[in-house]
Amino acid sequence: MRKRIQKNMRPEQENEQSSVSEHCGPDVEQSHSVQATNNTKPARARGAFTDAFLYRKSEQYLPALFARTSDAIITLDQDFFVRDVNPAACTALGDVSSALVGHRCPQVLGCRNLNQIPLCGTSSCPLERGLQQGPLPSEELLLGTHPEDSSEVSVSVTPVTISRRRCAIFIVRNLSALKVANQVRTNFVSMVSHELRNPLNSIHGFIELFLQGHMGELTDEQLTYLGYTREGVLQLVSLVEDILFMTRSDVGQFEVRQEEVHFQSLVRLIHQVISTFRPQAFKVEVVLRDDIPEELPSLYADPLRLKQALTNLVANAIKYTPPGGTVTVSAQQIDDRFQRISVTDTGYGIPIADRQHVFERFYQSDDSRQSKMGGYGLGLAIAKLIVEQHGGTISFDTHIDKGTTFSFTIPLYQEPS
Ligand code: ATP
Ligand code: MG
Repeated sequence: MRKRIQKNMRPEQENEQSSVSEHCGPDVEQSHSVQATNNTKPARARGAFTDAFLYRKSEQYLPALFARTSDAIITLDQDFFVRDVNPAACTALGDVSSALVGHRCPQVLGCRNLNQIPLCGTSSCPLERGLQQGPLPSEELLLGTHPEDSSEVSVSVTPVTISRRRCAIFIVRNLSALKVANQVRTNFVSMVSHELRNPLNSIHGFIELFLQGHMGELTDEQLTYLGYTREGVLQLVSLVEDILFMTRSDVGQFEVRQEEVHFQSLVRLIHQVISTFRPQAFKVEVVLRDDIPEELPSLYADPLRLKQALTNLVANAIKYTPPGGTVTVSAQQIDDRFQRISVTDTGYGIPIADRQHVFERFYQSDDSRQSKMGGYGLGLAIAKLIVEQHGGTISFDTHIDKGTTFSFTIPLYQEPS
């Protein structure tokens, strides 16, 4: 058996040898090794038998699965040419196999995110990410080369090696039925959030009137308690705003209004964010600074959204930095298309277990130093949405107890030709 031979190989030989049919192999191998570490010899022998059995069986059922599954399966090579499609893919893409195979994926798939932004050629392209970073388990996007007849789908991307060429297996599942149910849920969440926003804003307004003395003089104790109440209400307002933002984006109603943002406006925007956070940073003994060059080209951005993304990153940087630390906002041009804006802190760093999850909605670390900081785990998910809607990317570099830098790219303004 091939699997047995592979067991005696160097890891690099094993890589060289992998192929599509062997793709079933590593999965089987993986489940085997889990058993092997936990069990004794007879169990290991049983595992080997199961491997061989599964492997032989797979040769029979995989072609049938490929032909009959309702999921569309498309195999593409590393240059993004379609190499194979199954019948479900032909149905989904509305063409015969001969019209699809051999074409590049932008002419066949036309992936766009849920807000209609084309992903081809960007770092958000699922194929690119699958090939670079490993399997992509599930991602929702719009598929179709014509926006008017595109459908909402869930895709998974699995990189494999076929005849020594890097390829990606792109599996597409139509979400139309599921979407109807989701739409009902999203509408409900959106409606509730909207209905909560108005009474919360009026409570906030009245608290402000009391605090400013318009309703008569208050004792120090009353002022203190009303101050706490205001903080709580503001937290709720911000949560409701964040949820509204997410649900709007989920139903494709979030769009950025990009315009030319001159360097002076960018500097002003950064200074506004820094000034807003100054009292909070002072309270926790964190120094806020900026590091911006003398001049930078204009950006093509929605200034309000840009400010929102930056605000979320600066809020985090202050929150996850111990007293005596520093938070720096910097900006630099990276090439003739993009500028990078970074927020660097000297804080706790992001624990390894949390690194792949921090951009997920409602994700917060369990780390004892970070879990007591409040919030809802939405700030980074929102920043990511905003940045990607501009056609940029967001990433971070982190070192435990040394600090973290979150950076995002924003396109430069291009003069109309
Ligand atoms: P919210 O933003 O909704 O108030 P939050 O700050 O917990 O809550 P995110 O901004 O989405 O949520 O951040 C998610 C998690 O990522 C945080 O809970 C924290 O564990 C981690 N994190 C984010 N920024 C940093 C940072 N600069 N340093 C260390 N950990 C961070
Ligand atoms: Mg946050």
